[in-house]
Amino acid sequence: MKVGVLSDIHGNLEALTAVLDFFSRKGVERILSCGDIVGYGPDPVACIELLQKVGALGVAGNHELGVLRKTPLARFNPLAVIGIHWTGDQLLDGHRFYLDGLPLVFRFGPLHIVHAAPAEPAEWEYVFSVDDADEQMGAFFTDICLIGHTHIPLMTEKVAKQPARMIKKEGFFIREDAKYLINVGSVGQPRDGDPRAACMIIDLNEKQITLYRVEYDIARTQEKIRRAGLPEELALRLAQGR
Ligand code: ZN
Repeated sequence: MKVGVLSDIHGNLEALTAVLDFFSRKGVERILSCGDIVGYGPDPVACIELLQKVGALGVAGNHELGVLRKTPLARFNPLAVIGIHWTGDQLLDGHRFYLDGLPLVFRFGPLHIVHAAPAEPAEWEYVFSVDDADEQMGAFFTDICLIGHTHIPLMTEKVAKQPARMIKKEGFFIREDAKYLINVGSVGQPRDGDPRAACMIIDLNEKQITLYRVEYDIARTQEKIRRAGLPEELALRLAQGR
């Protein structure tokens, strides 16, 4: 079975649509989301409804809980707070109900899915480095933990008691004797300098994991951000991948 993994869509419908098209061309049968479907971007409603339509499974991110006021807004940066208020005004009860039903942790076969660092899912700690990842390897009990939150892809592997190491290739085969902590990057607001949407395909039969980048119509999303009256900075950063 091929599983498509996405994270941090952030209301970017053009990026999400491009990734879902890519997944269907690749024969993906199940879609998993590591959270932050909404926030920052101009299409929260369409992104929620599209994920529901394709039967995506997954977890809530801090932006979902921010919109639902279940995590303090004081913990968000000022741009995020503007996005959270704007997003809240767009949602109907059904969309809130859907977001409210997302768990903080979700298990799919060998995959442990959580938005931020797995040790304390509601604390929203970032995993930026291989050292950060190493500290988290005892916090999940499956072979593979999938996270988002930083908007920067990071693939790490730990064998026995050796320190975790970074996997620098885009694709690799899963070892039987290793644990993996993988940040899939962001669909709708990448911050690693590559503006293309990030996503991942896990082939559970072939035991292969591959990161991909998918081009989408950035100018169209920027135009929608401006028309929605959201901050210009949110439009500009999409083209820079920052
Ligand atoms: Zn995010």
